[in-house]
Amino acid sequence: MQFKDWNFEHTYTKLPEIFFQNQMPAAAPAPQIVIFNQGLSQTLGLNTDKLKITPQIFAGSELPYGAKPISQAYAGYQFGHFAMLGDGRAVLLGEHIAPDNRRFDIQLKGSGKTPYSRRGDGQAALLPMLREYIISEAMFFLGIPTTRSLAVALTGKDVIREKVLQGAVLTRVASSHIRVGTFNYISAFGTLEDLCKLSDYCIWRHFPWLENSDNKYLLFLREAAHLQASLIAKWQLAGFVHGVMNTDNMAISGETIDYGPCAFMDFYNPDTVFSSIDIEGRYAYKNQPLIGAWNLSKLAEELLPLIDENQNMAVELAQKEIDNYWKCYNENWLAGMRSKLGIVCDEPEDTRLIEELLDLMEKNNLDYTNTFRALSSANNKTSSLFEIPEFILWHKKWQFKIEKQPQSLDHSIEMMNKHNPAVIPRNYRVEEALTAAENGDFLVMDNLLHALSKPFEESEIYSSPPKPSSCRYKTFCGV
Ligand code: AMP
Ligand code: MG
Repeated sequence: MQFKDWNFEHTYTKLPEIFFQNQMPAAAPAPQIVIFNQGLSQTLGLNTDKLKITPQIFAGSELPYGAKPISQAYAGYQFGHFAMLGDGRAVLLGEHIAPDNRRFDIQLKGSGKTPYSRRGDGQAALLPMLREYIISEAMFFLGIPTTRSLAVALTGKDVIREKVLQGAVLTRVASSHIRVGTFNYISAFGTLEDLCKLSDYCIWRHFPWLENSDNKYLLFLREAAHLQASLIAKWQLAGFVHGVMNTDNMAISGETIDYGPCAFMDFYNPDTVFSSIDIEGRYAYKNQPLIGAWNLSKLAEELLPLIDENQNMAVELAQKEIDNYWKCYNENWLAGMRSKLGIVCDEPEDTRLIEELLDLMEKNNLDYTNTFRALSSANNKTSSLFEIPEFILWHKKWQFKIEKQPQSLDHSIEMMNKHNPAVIPRNYRVEEALTAAENGDFLVMDNLLHALSKPFEESEIYSSPPKPSSCRYKTFCGV
């Protein structure tokens, strides 16, 4: 059964053969959709009712109309070290053109072995795929650029990890799956012509306004850096820890990609690391902006031969773009923090005010999300924050600042309520939803997803921080 409302093109396969390999997804013995994204399906212009009865497509057993599955080649610096990688458990079905002419990669993740699987089995387990679904959707509704999730389907196969798990496939939707790691790969194993073709393809796909510019490759680096600066500032402002910022997990499109060991902070601590394998805290919350710059410098290095024939000149030009990344990141972060605090009139002292709040949040183990949200709540004087003398002092300074602005207090409150979410995917709520799903109850997850789709609306249930626990939340790579 094939429906013609898929509208696939395959521009990536016009790149040289070194970039990909044709790869059929593996057959699934008992396909079953466990969650389907109606809203996204409509955005894509797909026939939602028909699709919901095609589990075989979402489990990889049958190809949708017009699909030509491939696996993409890429490498990456993992925890700082170069490695050959590639889609080891994913196939790209094609680029679906939505009714508004936007182009989306449709990828099946967990659909079996590929030429890039190395020692992996090409499979994914149900719970990590549901976790990706939940957190990526939460990011979308928080206004943070992200890949999205169209469906999760069971395959009917067992996946052998520490114990036997249910196999599943996630249908991932992305502006593209081109990574900094794609550039690392082609620089290591391709020719200069391949590098040029990949860069031109990225410009065509993501930055078409650069096509006729002088030194378009330098401008490409600038645009990619701006997107990362803006993205990482949004992560910091939301308290999101990606967890595995290897260059293969940094998309050129500026979307958050690869929801493995990621999680949101509850109490504020800049050293927060959730990933069980990040022993040294390379990818800790506070390091994310720096790692963004590190990854971009790896992209810049690969682009040097295209930026200028004279290597010294190329390095100088590229370095300016990395400096620019920092400027752009700092501006984005500061503007975002001002919005979170209802500040309309910018003053140099704002930075101190922000830092003082963050410091006292850290010292007092305050919940990051709820502290910001409490500032704009009508009844905030009853908040337990006012039991903290340091907070009372800070609050007076903040109030003074807000009251001297020509705009009304209501104006600031409205602004704050649009920038400080009440609902984030709190780890204990995500775990609760996954545990229920493991036992066949998907209602808990549906309710959570519903709350996450309206993150700026108060919710007594989903806004509560977890009960204090001696056990710190740990995440594992999404295998
Ligand atoms: P990640 O940690 O998800 O960024 O994955 C790093 C690399 O490992 C990528 O090349 C993945 O495709 C590959 N990989 C992860 N899990 C598997 C698996 N179960 N089988 C094959 N390859 C995998
Ligand atoms: Mg990855």
